[in-house]
Amino acid sequence: MYKLFRHAHPFFDHSSTAVLLDVHHQVLVSSTSGSGAQNGVLRRGRLTIRRDEAKHVVGNILHMNVGDGEHSYSKHSLLQEIAIKKAKPVLEEAIKSMLRTGSAFPKCFNVVDLGCSSGPNTLLTISYIIDAVYRICQQEKLAKTPDFQVFLNDLPGNDCNTVFKSLPVFYEKLEKEKCGFLSSCFISGLPGSFYGRLFPNNSLHFVHSSYSIHWLSKVPDGLMNKGNIYMAKTSCSTVHEAYLKQYRKDFHSFLRLRSQEMVSNGRMVIAFIGRTMIDPSASRDCCYYWEILAKCLYELVDEGLIEEDDIDLFNVPIYTPHEEEVREIVEIEGSFTIDRFEMFQINNDPRDNDTNEDFIFNEIESGKNASNYVRAGLEPIFTKHFGASVIDSLFSKYAKLLGENWLLEKAKNTIMVISLTKH
Ligand code: SAH
Repeated sequence: MYKLFRHAHPFFDHSSTAVLLDVHHQVLVSSTSGSGAQNGVLRRGRLTIRRDEAKHVVGNILHMNVGDGEHSYSKHSLLQEIAIKKAKPVLEEAIKSMLRTGSAFPKCFNVVDLGCSSGPNTLLTISYIIDAVYRICQQEKLAKTPDFQVFLNDLPGNDCNTVFKSLPVFYEKLEKEKCGFLSSCFISGLPGSFYGRLFPNNSLHFVHSSYSIHWLSKVPDGLMNKGNIYMAKTSCSTVHEAYLKQYRKDFHSFLRLRSQEMVSNGRMVIAFIGRTMIDPSASRDCCYYWEILAKCLYELVDEGLIEEDDIDLFNVPIYTPHEEEVREIVEIEGSFTIDRFEMFQINNDPRDNDTNEDFIFNEIESGKNASNYVRAGLEPIFTKHFGASVIDSLFSKYAKLLGENWLLEKAKNTIMVISLTKH
């Protein structure tokens, strides 16, 4: 099945182009709640998505804010950078154990970073992987490293132009630092959803993904979540069930697809946002964040800028799982062994003082930092649903409310890092 979409062509510019996307390449932004218009136009003038379209629009619009401007992902990805740095020992250990236990070093080391986005983190991860292989080859007294074939994967709307422009400097640096000992390194962009097949059978040695697979392939079907945009304290239990059902389906197929693409004894290191408590409504690291954003959306309703129906029709296509849920799916899917399962927490304001556990010191700065980080990732889907005119107001309200809340109690993101071996 194919569907005709309008989207920005990833590799050339961000003008609108009609393309055919496989159904696997869709991520949804909006769910239907049973109220509002049946078909036709959802709201007046500002945004005209038909209801059936609203269920199928995000595969082509989900991307982080492009370029390197004030609200770009490139400028606001420090939180994700901290996660990559904290997970580095897990990544190094996985590569080491793979190369030391495999029968022979591969001639060409095939690597993918899934959900690579654009910005300083994209090539940071790749440099960690190359460094790790390089060091092991030196320790093993090999003449040279293998060749590297590196794929940078993200959805088609990702700002690959920015990534590609940074490649010459990256190659130059590699050559300077590792001259003589490093064989060739070939880096390519690979647009497509990681919920679809991306590679031939048995072709990948190492799969990496950071801060990406908490994104679902779509908003769960049939959500009745009035007043909320994610699982919240006031959501009924069917909301958690629907999110969990979608997560089980997505994560299971993610593992199944990767198991087909990876060589036996290949390694996969994935890091994503999770939660510490099984009951999502009791988990401050999970729902709280979105509850505050929903409050800000309601302020926009009071100001007559959006309609209540707009909020009822919107749920974020993200799921932050509990450890038990993750382990259960890996076990049921059956292609991987979990070698390590680590968890750590990062302040929601990545620039905030790490040693103080309880509250923030500067509510204006901290609120702004955290709001900017959420905006850099979510602005495209919020713009598509609520219209561009409300975005500045929405995120400045969000910054203020987050800051006020954290004066009383600080909030943190829980990051799960899992290292897996393909059987
Ligand atoms: N790994 C980067 C980016 C994290 S942001 C970092 O650590 O900084 C999450 C990225 O995942 C976004 O660029 C988003 O477009 C991408 N993403 C989300 N769902 C995806 C999917 N189904 N397939 C491929 N990429 C996806």
